[in-house]
Amino acid sequence: MAAPLIEIRDLRKVYALDGVEIQALRGIDMAVAGGEFVAIMGPSGSGKSTLMNILGCLDVADSGTYRLRGEDVTGMTPNQLARLRNREIGFVFQSFNLLPRTSALENVETPLVYAGVGRQERHERAREALERMGLGERMRHFPNQLSGGQQQRVAIARALVTCPSLLLADEPTGNVDTVTTEEILGVLEALNREGLTIVLITHEQDVAQCAGRTLTVRDGRLEARP
Ligand code: ADP
Repeated sequence: MAAPLIEIRDLRKVYALDGVEIQALRGIDMAVAGGEFVAIMGPSGSGKSTLMNILGCLDVADSGTYRLRGEDVTGMTPNQLARLRNREIGFVFQSFNLLPRTSALENVETPLVYAGVGRQERHERAREALERMGLGERMRHFPNQLSGGQQQRVAIARALVTCPSLLLADEPTGNVDTVTTEEILGVLEALNREGLTIVLITHEQDVAQCAGRTLTVRDGRLEARP
């Protein structure tokens, strides 16, 4: 059997705040296979963001192991983490995080600039990613000339333009109305059907329903739901 895309063993994270230790993660074990769509739920303060930051190679745990595509992330230097992140992970956020005075096309090109891809190829790949998101006619628009759903689709195009093996979506429908929520979830479901692995953090049961499986974080631990 192929190794899982994400493999986490006894992951722990402690924050020290004003001399007080806060155990944000108290021993997380989880595995996500390539092609899965997993939702992570849990009350505020349960450790979701901490787990997300570690999954996204934005932060490291204090102990335990995290393997991403078989590579041991534990003990990597910040530079190694950044390289792994750029290569393997696409991020989508609640607030879209698009550059405001920059066209949709240039927004999608941004990660390719960091990856050192030449101008012509950047342009081509960004155009293809936007067309895939149904935004071929909106490439020259600025974020404020786009609807919330369109902005989030630009953000998804930007996350996917580097061909990551994992899409991490942090409350991707937290800022939009119900109709737009359906639109964004429809896009994520379609991408997952095409084989993309997705980990989605959400507060909303309705949103989690579109995933194949839901994990719940409570007080720094995972409890699997049937
Ligand atoms: P969630 O995303 O589920 O709301 P978090 O991962 O943000 O939960 O937080 C888990 C726990 O860790 C909380 O008790 C929170 O107050 C604490 N925490 C999070 N980040 C920090 C930090 N940088 N410094 C100190 N405590 C933190």
